[in-house]
Amino acid sequence: MQRVINNIVNNDILPNDVWKWNYVENIIRQTMELYSFKEIRTSIIQSQELFESYLNYYSEEENSSKRLLFNLNGVSNLSLRPEGTITVLHSLMKNNINELQSRLFYIGPMFRKQNDNKLSQIHQFGAEIIGSDDLLTDSEIILLAIKVFKSLEIFNYQLEISSFGCSKCRINYVKELNKFIRSHQDEYCPECHYNIKLNPFQVFQCENSNCENISNLAPVISDYLCKDCSSHLKKLQKMLSNLGIAFVIAPYLPTAFNYYNRTIFRFVIEENGHKTILANGGRYDFLASSVLKKKVHAIGFSADFESIIRVMENRNIFMMPKNQFKVLISPMAPNLDVFVLQIAQEMHENNIHTIILSFTKDFDYMTTIADNYEAEVDIRISDELIREGKLLVKNNLKNHQEPVQIADIGNYIQTIKKSTIIQ
Ligand SMILES: [Zn+2]
Ligand SMILES: [Zn+2]
Repeated sequence: MQRVINNIVNNDILPNDVWKWNYVENIIRQTMELYSFKEIRTSIIQSQELFESYLNYYSEEENSSKRLLFNLNGVSNLSLRPEGTITVLHSLMKNNINELQSRLFYIGPMFRKQNDNKLSQIHQFGAEIIGSDDLLTDSEIILLAIKVFKSLEIFNYQLEISSFGCSKCRINYVKELNKFIRSHQDEYCPECHYNIKLNPFQVFQCENSNCENISNLAPVISDYLCKDCSSHLKKLQKMLSNLGIAFVIAPYLPTAFNYYNRTIFRFVIEENGHKTILANGGRYDFLASSVLKKKVHAIGFSADFESIIRVMENRNIFMMPKNQFKVLISPMAPNLDVFVLQIAQEMHENNIHTIILSFTKDFDYMTTIADNYEAEVDIRISDELIREGKLLVKNNLKNHQEPVQIADIGNYIQTIKKSTIIQ
């Protein structure tokens, strides 16, 4: 549920939705393990300088990354983690991890300033292969993303691929692109105006039809690629075609971050007439070499949980999990707390899920709460029965109740549990 309080976009994940997040996270973890990626958990608090150094590419504005960074008020030089790739690289460098090829994935919150200056928390996962310039790796990382979506039963997306060129050939393209944008600046929408200075490529993200019409006339990167970059892109296309992977060549480069080189890709899905980006990624050899301070090649992708979960909800992909067999324990008189807790402990020893109710004289209220929990069994503890060493057990599935000896309660409940379909 999204609410804005004190300029913070509050993205709390509420109890009725958390199971969906866990479901998606489990599938991601299983898929990453299948591909032999190891999880890395980087610190949420990071140095501001780290991102200022690496997120400023191609911006005309000095310190443009500050517009994105979520700084900690009063604590200079600290920022909350805005994205995963730079933090993963920095962690490898700080911790002296020098494996020939690192295959890593992360899951966690990222913090960014939105265009309207509101501060927001998003949740992402991503995978990185650090240490290979082989085209095989470009294809593998794309196949990994495809496998994640397949496991989540998300289909009908479009895979767009392109090349971000290299430091030699991209300069000419960026020059021409900036020239084009400047000559059409007045025609772009206010949002694009804001973005242009920060990252000229963001005009390609705008869904305003007027902006789209202008951007469709912009110079195309493929006309500017050098021989090596062009051949790299062709080989990737050939490899993907041979693997039977459907893709389109995107003429433009709508990337959120500009630290890529050569292969870039994104997965886009149509949702209620809008494009939702499921994941995007690419090769970032220069970024990896700058952070790790040695020549190294790398490629990765990241995806937002919010988008993926929204797509899955809209397509009714989620299946409600089965209810756990559970027992509701309620005292029918005051001062029975110790008995209540002892019975609960006995249930926990038998791996039975419990709900404990507090005593209240308002039995209607108690019954309403009990009904809401939909427990399969109610155990009622009363003064009279306790004196006889018994509890009242109500099997809600059979609408049957009877007193049971306290000593037998564990076995008695286990027998009911086994007799139910839900186990
Ligand atoms: Zn090039
Ligand atoms: Zn626009």
